[in-house]
Amino acid sequence: VTIDGNRAPASYFSSPSPNTKGERVSSSSVLVINSGSSSIKYQLVDPETGDAIAKGLVERIGDPMGFIKHVYGDAVTEEELPVPDHTVGMREVLRLFDTEGPSLAEAGILAVGHRVVQGGRYFDGPALITDEVRNLIEELCPLAPLHNPAHLKGIDVARELMPDVPHVAVFDTAFFQQLPDRSALYALETETAEKYSVRRYGAHGTSHQFVSQEIAKLEGRDDLKQIVLHLGNGASVSAVKNGKPIDTSMGLTPLEGLMMGTRTGDIDPAVVFHLQRVAGMSVDEVDTLFNKKSGMKGMTGESDMRSVWDMIHNDDDPEAQQRARTAMDVYINRLLKYVGSYTAELGGLDVITFTAGIGENDAAVRRELAEALAPFGVKIDVEANQVRSGEPRVVSTADSAVTIYVFPTNEELAIARQALTFA
Ligand code: AMP
Repeated sequence: VTIDGNRAPASYFSSPSPNTKGERVSSSSVLVINSGSSSIKYQLVDPETGDAIAKGLVERIGDPMGFIKHVYGDAVTEEELPVPDHTVGMREVLRLFDTEGPSLAEAGILAVGHRVVQGGRYFDGPALITDEVRNLIEELCPLAPLHNPAHLKGIDVARELMPDVPHVAVFDTAFFQQLPDRSALYALETETAEKYSVRRYGAHGTSHQFVSQEIAKLEGRDDLKQIVLHLGNGASVSAVKNGKPIDTSMGLTPLEGLMMGTRTGDIDPAVVFHLQRVAGMSVDEVDTLFNKKSGMKGMTGESDMRSVWDMIHNDDDPEAQQRARTAMDVYINRLLKYVGSYTAELGGLDVITFTAGIGENDAAVRRELAEALAPFGVKIDVEANQVRSGEPRVVSTADSAVTIYVFPTNEELAIARQALTFA
């Protein structure tokens, strides 16, 4: 692999063909790891059924006292103990599999899948982690300064402790490497954009890809014009035409696009200059303001939609109630703008799918957006929309111009299946 220039040869990283080993025994599994700066989340997944065989997390790595939780069947193990670094954290995870079960050897672990936020221009699919691939992930740290270094800690220690299984990196950006230039490029001066790799990489790609593929299966056709709304604490929307993404709302970083739990989403970049000049804020202060103190939290004091609805319906203070309602209007309006513009880009629309924490659970957000789309023939089935369920379901009426789905995303399963292609 040459890493001169912007891009390694496409053939090296292009998506592998699906595994052709045929039927797998049901005792096979993939360990999925999401390593953050002070945490390790993990899930042992049965890639056939999609079941989480066991899962858990290590939190507060580097603090005087850490916390570990391991769940296997009905058995929940919780421990407080110092976890000075990721090496100790990963050793503790393996110890818990040994003592609390299931034994990783008996679970037939075929691969370890690592979630990686930023794959830059190098990765348009999952990659077997070799030393070269590891170093490319490191090279991309400036584009994801909070995430990629944390992923590398998990990758390094997991490769060391589990040397006999393939380790596979699954990138949040990979799906959106297929974006056409017209939506991937900013109208920024070319030389600067290229020199500093400034373009739209997108995020949540594993979820957008998984959900859009599953919807195509449910609809029984690939030639679909889809909009996927991944609405969690972080939120993004994608337009997928005939299985390929043609636009998405997150950009160079996950800050762009929809209003989120704590992020502004789209904002005039001149607000940055304004706050620096007028409020004397530093770059880091504006970064924190936009990423951690804005969005729902910034406008209402609460980042969780349940709390915002509670303020709207039950707050004794009419001003707080009004503030929350206005914030919700901004949230819904941003969704509406994206659905409208993506419908135009797609040249029509067959399916809108809601997924992630808010998309799967917040019937009121779904209803308000659908009602705003009523002039275009979108009809939500109010009763079906109200039903709480963990199952994929249609919540539009039979005569709606667009089919509205609620589909539970499963990023761990998607990562496990992609990792398995190298097993
Ligand atoms: P995620 O990032 O996908 O885990 O989504 C987390 C967000 O989902 C939370 O911050 C809540 O805003 C939202 N959420 C979860 N459950 C519900 C619910 N029952 N009703 C409304 N919002 C919910």
